[in-house]
Parts: sequence; C-alpha cells; structure tokens
Amino acid sequence: MQSRPPRVLMPNSVHEALSMAAREPDAVYWAGGMAFKQQSGHGAVMKLPGTLIVLSRIEELARVLRTERTLDIGSMTNLERIAEIGRGFLPPGMQEAIASTAVRPVRCMISIGGHIAEKKKLGYLLPLLQLLDAKVEVRFLRTRRGRVLSIPGNRKIPIAGFHDAASGLPHEALITRVSIPLHIWNAGQFIKVYPGGRDNPPFIFCGAARVEKKVLMEVRLAFTDAQTGIFRDTELEASMAGRGLPLSNKDLQQLSNAVSRITANWIQPFNKAAAWDAVCGFFSRIIL
Ligand SMILES: Cc1cc2nc3c(=O)[nH]c(=O)nc-3n(C[C@H](O)[C@H](O)[C@H](O)COP(=O)(O)OP(=O)(O)OC[C@H]3O[C@@H](n4cnc5c(N)ncnc54)[C@H](O)[C@@H]3O)c2cc1C
Repeated sequence: MQSRPPRVLMPNSVHEALSMAAREPDAVYWAGGMAFKQQSGHGAVMKLPGTLIVLSRIEELARVLRTERTLDIGSMTNLERIAEIGRGFLPPGMQEAIASTAVRPVRCMISIGGHIAEKKKLGYLLPLLQLLDAKVEVRFLRTRRGRVLSIPGNRKIPIAGFHDAASGLPHEALITRVSIPLHIWNAGQFIKVYPGGRDNPPFIFCGAARVEKKVLMEVRLAFTDAQTGIFRDTELEASMAGRGLPLSNKDLQQLSNAVSRITANWIQPFNKAAAWDAVCGFFSRIIL
C-alpha cells in the first residue's frame, strides 16, 4: 500500500485484463473497490495498491443470462442489480441475503465477483451461494515451462472451497461469472442476527427446502459464525429427505444433535443457541 496515487489500467476485454495482470505481478483487480474502502477504515484517504486494473469497462463481465437451468451472473454485476433483475426468479432467501448486506449505496458498488474474491472477510452471500451449489468461472492465461502464454484457460469452481482451489491458479486469474442453478426450491430462508451484539460478527443461517404434500423432499442448511467458516452436514441433509412434516420428536432430536456437532468449535456460545433457534424457526416456517 502507498500514499502516492495509484497507476490505473483500464482493460476493455477479459483477455486484455489477464495480459495486464500477467505483466504486472503487483497489480490488483479493482471491481467496486469496497474491500479497499472497508480496510482503510473511516479515514478520508484510502490506502491503495500501486497499480489497479479497473474492470468496469469490460462489457462481458456485466452480462446476466437466465437459461432454463441456471442464472449466469457476470462478475461485475452489483448486488442491487442482481436483486432488481432477479425479482421473481431468484432462489428463495437471495433477496433477503442481498438486502442484509451493507446499505443500498454500498450494495450498488459491491460486485458479485469482488464479494467472492475478497479473502479477508466472509461475504454475507457466500453461505447461500454455497448451499445453492453456485459455481464460479475463473479465467487465466496458460503457462508452459514457467512461461506465460497468451492462450486463455478457464475453470468452473464450486463456491465451497473456492479460495483453496483458486490459490493454485496463476496470479492473474480473474473471476468472470457466477452460475447459480435454478433448482425448484419452494421454501427458503436467510437469517442474519447479532446474538452477541454489534461488536461481534453476525451469525448467519440459510435454509432451502422442497416440500411436496407435507413431505420434505430435499433440504439444505448452512451456518456460519462469520469467523470459523461455512458449515453444512450433507449426511444429515440426505437423511432428512422423505420425512413427514411437522418433524417428529425423534427427527428434531437428530437435528439438534447435528447442530451441536456443527457448532462445537464455535468461539461464541451465543451463536450456538442462535443456530438452534434458526433451525427451529426454519422448520416451523416451512409447514405453514
Ligand atoms: C461501508 C461498507 C460496508 C460493508 N458491509 C458489508 C456487509 O454488510 N456484508 C458484506 O458481506 N460485505 C460488506 N462490505 C463489502 C465487503 O467489504 C467486500 O469487500 C466487498 O464485497 C467487495 O466487493 P467489491 O466489488 O467492492 O470488490 P473490490 O473491493 O474491488 O475487490 C475485493 C477483492 O477482490 C479482488 N477482485 C475483485 N474482483 C475480482 C474478480 N473479478 N476476479 C478476481 N479478483 C477480484 C480485488 O483485487 C480485491 O482483492 C462492506 C463494504 C463497505 C465499504
């Protein structure tokens, strides 16, 4: 970070951005700039890296496409735009997740790509994107014997474990798109609460379910204390399929045991209680 104004590069295409980043190992991508703003604190002067590659001129990164099976969102699409264009077909819980992230003017700046790429803080949409099996398309330049070629490569990486997988990619790797499967969920919930007060990170719960004739056909549950990571128990989710609603006492006991296991390593005890409250709230809501 430096106090001089940064050098700003403005590519017009993904390939140009990749080539610039490959040539300039210290340059960083700039999407909405909100991570840099947040890390600079409340001071008027933002601490910026020496060279910025600004992504706002790349039209391809702002495209949104709805197919029969997926919603494909260009990485430079901001959260407010996603909420607006997705009205009526975004998966359940997504509108609430977006609305609970920062305030509207900041949401107009936060890009979905920057939200996912940011490593220092867990973005609030990530548990829900993980639960929905969203995939991130990343493009980069291929290398041969340590030499960067101008041949592009790409990978589709599941949100779960994205940062681990992306750490093995070349430094210029660019998130270009996020694909969210449009599965037929008919119940969903996003909850963000501050059981330990606003000085502590929030607790976030997301649930999605498909219910037919009072039978739970499919369910997914994701939890995070915004510190330790995002947790799901896929075995539990699979074992809940086919259960009648409302859940029996035996089913509730199994759920309660699973929530205790998931939250066992959480630092704040109040988040453990919040996790169980959220699960109970979700299941009582889907039988209404
Ligand atoms: C006042 C304020 C309140 C906020 N509140 C919340 C909140 O409540 N919840 C929440 O989750 N977040 C919140 N944020 C935003 C959060 O801090 C993230 O930093 C933000 O999501 C980043 O998105 P961005 O588009 O601004 O990315 P940037 O800040 O531009 O970039 C973030 C990082 O990702 C990299 N990057 C960006 N785009 C790409 C790409 N396409 N491919 C590869 N790398 C890329 C950048 O180099 C940088 O390292 C808040 C921010 C501010 C300023």
